[in-house]
Amino acid sequence: MITRILTLLTCFFLLLPVQAQLVLDEYTSDIFLTDKNSFFGIHTGDTAYYWIETNIQKNTSSDFLIECLAPQLKEVKCYVLNQGKDTIRSFITGAAYPFSQRYLQHKNFIFPLNMEPGVYTICIGVRDIQPDELYFKIRSDHFFTEYAISEYFFLGCYYGVLLIVLLYNLFLYMKGAMRVHILYVFYIIGCIALSVREDGIAYQYVLSYFPSLNFIFNLYLAKPIFLSTFIVYSVSFLEIKRYAAGIKKLLLFLLGIYVCMLLLSIAIPALMLLSEYVFFSVFIIVYITSLFIAKKGNHFAYYFFAGFSMVMLSVLINLLRSFNILPSTIFTVYSFNYGIILEVIIFSVALADKIRIIQQEKEQSKEALIVQLSENDGLQQRLIVELEEKKTLQEKVNRELETKVRERTAELQSANEKLEAFAKETDRLNSELDRFNYALQKEIKEEKISRIYNQDVSYEEFLNTYPDDDTCLKVIQQLKWPDGFVCKKCGNTKASNAGVWYRKKCSKCGTIESITANTLFHHLKFPLNKAFYLTYVEFSNMKQTDEALSELIDLRKPTIWAYRKKVEERMADKNYKKATNWKDIVLDLL
Ligand SMILES: [Zn+2]
Repeated sequence: MITRILTLLTCFFLLLPVQAQLVLDEYTSDIFLTDKNSFFGIHTGDTAYYWIETNIQKNTSSDFLIECLAPQLKEVKCYVLNQGKDTIRSFITGAAYPFSQRYLQHKNFIFPLNMEPGVYTICIGVRDIQPDELYFKIRSDHFFTEYAISEYFFLGCYYGVLLIVLLYNLFLYMKGAMRVHILYVFYIIGCIALSVREDGIAYQYVLSYFPSLNFIFNLYLAKPIFLSTFIVYSVSFLEIKRYAAGIKKLLLFLLGIYVCMLLLSIAIPALMLLSEYVFFSVFIIVYITSLFIAKKGNHFAYYFFAGFSMVMLSVLINLLRSFNILPSTIFTVYSFNYGIILEVIIFSVALADKIRIIQQEKEQSKEALIVQLSENDGLQQRLIVELEEKKTLQEKVNRELETKVRERTAELQSANEKLEAFAKETDRLNSELDRFNYALQKEIKEEKISRIYNQDVSYEEFLNTYPDDDTCLKVIQQLKWPDGFVCKKCGNTKASNAGVWYRKKCSKCGTIESITANTLFHHLKFPLNKAFYLTYVEFSNMKQTDEALSELIDLRKPTIWAYRKKVEERMADKNYKKATNWKDIVLDLL
């Protein structure tokens, strides 16, 4: 294709003169209008067109036609001039013209050469030329009919295969296969877009009523669709991001550049040619990258490389055909389509292989998962058993605790009952005690009164209470030292007995003190219990004579009188005024 561009440009700039003649005779079936004998020239008056001018010598009455093999051309004019330079036939058509206005309803532009034998000049003008699209052939009607039938049959097969692969992958994708499937579907759509642009099928069957849309599709849509779907699919299939992240960025950058150039070419037509280089560079880069990635260990990249090689081969065949090294047959003309079909088949095999391996991996991981799950199951079972054991243990502990609590509660209850009973008993006893106390106090009061007024206490009773001196001495000791011994001299509280128990010797200063010292009974010359009784009698103010007392306690009258006097004196002392009991006057007041 590039060679064709170069040839074209060279011819255009050199503006070689028109010469020679194409001879059409009985044996002519299929020749290039622009082949060897035809050259460019500028047709007078219409500089917006690129012109091809050629002379033909028609030696037969059979009909011929001119077929333009570039259905993308926006506008094509064809003039047939006789030797007198009179226009005998004129046609105008193109991708921007309604399909229905064509001379023949064929995907390519057809101009009939149904003139009488003779010499003619053919002028073909092309506007908005695409560099790889100047492809004109003169064919006999007979050849064209046969060729066109095969061509349409071939194209039917071609699109049929593409559609099958597309639907198959779409089906796989919808059944939940990988993302790469839907990208492959897009790529096939891209291939179809490019193919229908190249062969003109799109206009004949899809866009027939929209000439302007057809023109836009040819120029600005088909190739970018193909390029972008190709990049996206390649990046995904080859895992370019993983193996060569920089390449991915480069490809996207080139895609951006390409689209920009296409858009700018509306204003600057020269960019259209330049954009072709960008377009092809993407494929070269991906081709080399696929080999690089395959070498790096992604063996699926070999499939890609192999598939892509088919397309590269088809490009090579096209090149050889354009150099006339290979003949132009339906096989060489459509070598690109074969390349695409082979590529698509190889890619499909690659995808199937990839899916097979992925499914194998899935199976393996599924098996691993099953093993893991059964292990988990075992663990879970063990855990359940342990939990049940724990539960049983806990229930046992709970039962024991409950039993203990019940026992404790019962004990506590019985203790409470006992306590309650005890409290009741205490209450009863207390109330009894209260009653008793009350009675006792009443009794004591009565007794006291009786003792005071009725002189109830007899001498015999007294002797029962205070039978001997020791008893009396203890009573005195209790009165004198209620908190224990206290030395009169030094205040010491420790003492030892001095000979007898009722004589105490201070452990500090050594002072000896009798218990009766400093009491009413000091130097008493008769038994203490008798003195006690006499004190009681005197204190109680019993009207007893000395004589009666002398007889009662067996003591001499003068002794009784003397002692009674002593008690009487003490009772008269105002210091003993508060005394209520005979014992209150026992101690000397110091
Ligand atoms: Zn002392």
